[in-house]
Amino acid sequence: MDTLIKKSSTNTENTMTSLTGDIPFYKPLGKEEEVFKHAYGCRIPVLLKGPTGTGKTRFVGYVAHKLNRPLITISCHEETSSTDLIGRFIIKGAETIWMDGPLTKAVKIGAILYLDEIAEARPDVIVAIHSLTDHRKELYLDKLGETIKAHKDFMLVASFNPGYQKGFKELKPSTRQRFVALSFNYPSPKDEAEILVNETQLEMSVAKKLVGIANRIRNLTELGLTETVSTRLLVDAAKLIHSGLPKRLAVRVAVVEPLTDDLEITESLADLCDLMI
Ligand code: ADP
Repeated sequence: MDTLIKKSSTNTENTMTSLTGDIPFYKPLGKEEEVFKHAYGCRIPVLLKGPTGTGKTRFVGYVAHKLNRPLITISCHEETSSTDLIGRFIIKGAETIWMDGPLTKAVKIGAILYLDEIAEARPDVIVAIHSLTDHRKELYLDKLGETIKAHKDFMLVASFNPGYQKGFKELKPSTRQRFVALSFNYPSPKDEAEILVNETQLEMSVAKKLVGIANRIRNLTELGLTETVSTRLLVDAAKLIHSGLPKRLAVRVAVVEPLTDDLEITESLADLCDLMI
């Protein structure tokens, strides 16, 4: 009982999604749902790999709903520690009480726990989840000196962006090999246009133009952009257009500007988009 912290919040953003509400819209892009359901049946952790904005988070929300499980999402960053996930002692009035972290809670109630961008988290997070990813299926609460068995419905899901991590934050093979891995990538033009229309009620003809722009920019590998146009950026552009912002301006602020700060590249991409929208 060595940690006394005078605040009840953790420095990790996490959300719990209950089962009420409509099932999130998700356009299947391959066999991901079938694989996930089988992995869940076998309680094998799943790693979702792929660039940002390609539907990984949406997919987890969708399958959690389909499987009728609560979903706890943790957005990992370089400060995310095992204490943030497992729990801590807090001071409440004159008392010191233990507060479960989101991982402990998920393990106890049998939720799906989604560690978004797991490679960003501190190494002790990876250590903490190891015993949950093998036959032991248990979690060690170091500050309490207790080990708890995971609820039979508990499932661990993590996401990882291989391109973005290049050169620095890699996931070790010993960690990766504890997961079944599903690759996510940009949808086919037809699927992506359908996603835009479904997400924003934009006209199909304009959605197709946005998808054309995205694919053109995705093919410009010589620009050396760290990340290229994601479906998320297109959804934002589509929303702005649908809400009445002029198309060229919407594409500039939602697609071009977020990609780069290089003025020359910004201008040439904006010119290209102006011709295509
Ligand atoms: P990631 O978790 O991979 O960064 P998200 O799941 O947050 O990406 O996806 C970003 C947005 O793109 C979603 O909010 C959704 O609007 C849209 N999107 C991407 N792929 C799909 C898909 N297959 N079906 C429905 N929406 C999608």
